[in-house]
Amino acid sequence: MSAVTWVDAWSAEEGEQRARALFAASFDAEPDGTWSAPGRVNLIGEHTDYNGGLCLPIALPHRTYVAVRRRDDDLVRLVSAQDAGRLREVRLADVAPGTVDGWPSYVVGVAWALREAGHAVRGFDVAVDSCVPFGAGLSSSAALESAVAVALDATHGLGLAGPAGEPDDAGRALLAAACVRAENEIAGAPTGGMDQAASLRALAGHALLLDCLDGSVRQVPFDLAADGLALLVIDTRAEHALVDGQYAARRAACEAAAARLGLGTLREIDPDGLDRALATLDDGSDEGTVQVRRVRHVVREIARVQEFVALLDDDRLREVGPLMDASHVSLRDDYEVSCRELDVAVEAARGAGALGARMTGGGFGGSAIALVEGDAVQAVAAAVVAAFAAEGLHAPAFSVALPGGPAA
Ligand code: ADP
Ligand code: MG
Repeated sequence: MSAVTWVDAWSAEEGEQRARALFAASFDAEPDGTWSAPGRVNLIGEHTDYNGGLCLPIALPHRTYVAVRRRDDDLVRLVSAQDAGRLREVRLADVAPGTVDGWPSYVVGVAWALREAGHAVRGFDVAVDSCVPFGAGLSSSAALESAVAVALDATHGLGLAGPAGEPDDAGRALLAAACVRAENEIAGAPTGGMDQAASLRALAGHALLLDCLDGSVRQVPFDLAADGLALLVIDTRAEHALVDGQYAARRAACEAAAARLGLGTLREIDPDGLDRALATLDDGSDEGTVQVRRVRHVVREIARVQEFVALLDDDRLREVGPLMDASHVSLRDDYEVSCRELDVAVEAARGAGALGARMTGGGFGGSAIALVEGDAVQAVAAAVVAAFAAEGLHAPAFSVALPGGPAA
C-alpha cells in the first residue's frame, strides 16, 4: 500500500528563520522584523460569507512568514520562496485595479487598500516563505495578505492589530477589510470575507463564528483533544480550471435570487420561510431551477452553522458529524461545487470510521476535512490513500489541524 504524505506545519522559529534568510539573501540587509499569519480551514458554513451568512473557520498551524523592512520611497520590492526567490518591483503610486499581475497583487493590494482607508503606508521590501499549501483551499492567499497587513501595521505604527499577545479585534476587522479589498480589487478574486477574518481574528483553541452580515465574531472554544478527537485535513491536490468563473457564477446566482425576492442578501430568508422563497424562484426557467438549488444550500447551510455552534457550546463535539455530512451532500448536489476527488475523500474517510466529513473551502478541488478519533488518524488517512489509488487519482496529502493563533 502506498505511504501517507504528511504536510507538517513549521515551528515559528523555522518560519521566521526562513523568511529572514531569504530577505538577507535578496536585499543584502536585515529586515525590521518578521510576521506571520495562518491559513484556515472552515468547519462548516460554505459559500455563506458573500450571502451575509455565518461560517465557522479555525486558523491552521500552517502559516505564511514575511520579513519586512520599511522604505522611505513608494517602491515595493518582493521575493517569495514559492516564486523561486525572483525579485519583483511595484511602485505603490501605480497600483490600481487591473494594474498588477500575479502574486505581488496580494501584497501591494494590502498596502493600496490601507492607503485608500487613509493610512500613511510607504514602500517596503518583503521576503515571503510559507508552509500553507498553495491553492489547496486552505487560504494561502489570505495568509499572505494577513501577514503583510500585520507587518505594515507594525512597521508603520498604525496601531490596528493590538499589542503582542493582546489582539485588538476591532482594529483587526479593519485590517481584514483591507485584505478583502486587496484580494477583490487588486488580485481580482471575488472572494467573501471568511478567509481574512479567520487569519486575523481567530484565536488559538477556538473556532471563529463569523457573522458576515455585520462582520461581528464570537470565539467558540474548540477543544478536539478534550474529546479524544482529531481533525484530518485532506488536500486532494486536484487541479481544476474554470474555478474563478464557477465561483463568480455561484455568487451571481445568489445575488440574482436575492434581487428577485426583493432581499438585500439570502441571509434574510428564515428556514421556516424557505419553501415559500423557493416556490417564488421556481418559475420553470433554467435560471429559476438553478437558483432554487443554490438558495436551498445557502439557507440550510447557515442553519447548520447555528446547530454546530449550539453543539459546541453544549460540549457535544462528538455529535457534529451528521452536520458535516449533510453540508457535503448539499455542496455536492445543490451547490454543485464538489468534484470526484472531494467525494472520494469524504466517502473513504467516512467508510474508515470518521464521525463526519465534508469538502471545505470553495470547492472544485482543494481540501476536505474529516473528524476522526485521535487514534484513528493514520488508519483513516491510509484508507483515503487506498481509495484514491483504486480510483486512479493523484495521491492526496494530509495534515492534522489544531486551532492555531491569528496573524502576529
Ligand atoms: P488558496 O488561497 O486556497 O491557497 P488562492 O488561489 O486563493 O488559493 O491563492 C493562491 C495564490 O496566492 C497563489 O497563486 C499566489 O498568487 C498567492 N500566494 C499565496 N501564498 C503565496 C506565497 N507564499 N508566495 C507567493 N504567492 C503566494
Ligand atoms: Mg484564497
